[in-house]
Amino acid sequence: MANDHATAPLSPVTRRQFVAAAFAVTGAAAAGRVGMAAAAHVLPPLPYAESALAPVISANTIGIHYGRHHRGYLDNLNKLIAGTAFADLPLEKIVAATAGKPDQTAIFNNAAQTWNHTFYWRSLKPGGGGEPPAALKQRIEAAFGSVEACRKELAAAAVSQFASGWAWLVADRGSLKVVKTGNADTPLTSGVTPLITIDVWEHAYYLDYQNRRADYVSAMIEKLLNWEFAAKNLG
Ligand code: MN
Repeated sequence: MANDHATAPLSPVTRRQFVAAAFAVTGAAAAGRVGMAAAAHVLPPLPYAESALAPVISANTIGIHYGRHHRGYLDNLNKLIAGTAFADLPLEKIVAATAGKPDQTAIFNNAAQTWNHTFYWRSLKPGGGGEPPAALKQRIEAAFGSVEACRKELAAAAVSQFASGWAWLVADRGSLKVVKTGNADTPLTSGVTPLITIDVWEHAYYLDYQNRRADYVSAMIEKLLNWEFAAKNLG
């Protein structure tokens, strides 16, 4: 294995899996559970190339956002939960179990940010935007009057979220609505179904748009939103 590693560098995905597997073993050993390796969370691959969302979002932004920020939340989460009662729980259960608990803030923040980012990457696609699929479009028109009104409300939420956070389209007991959350907070903990999200932390747009968050948000909505993903989440 060591020789293989020296002569044939691992691909980024293989390296991630290798690191995750190595961590799972050491995490289990630290917890005194040798032979029952805890399943460390693994960074899901991006659904497209890092350059695929340019020029709306540059490859540089995606590379740092995915490779450092998202990975950082995930690595922190794995370290924080190793050897704890959370070690074997799926991500959504960790988020639910730690939400609103002051003594679990670090685990919540890193678990929720890990989940939010995976959801964000899937909320975007090259050549996105445009019109939602028919069934989703009907639901949007019922809730907002028109797709354009929905786009405007989503943009307003994204632009007006003070400091770091997220704007979301969610399904709430049969109706659709737009909500925003601060920092790591996620609608997952409010009993609603997230359909699509926009990350408005500065790291999502600052390299490309500096302080012009509204330009990032409108370009995202017009050119990248993955309405098929939203329709799939609606079920
Ligand atoms: Mn982010």
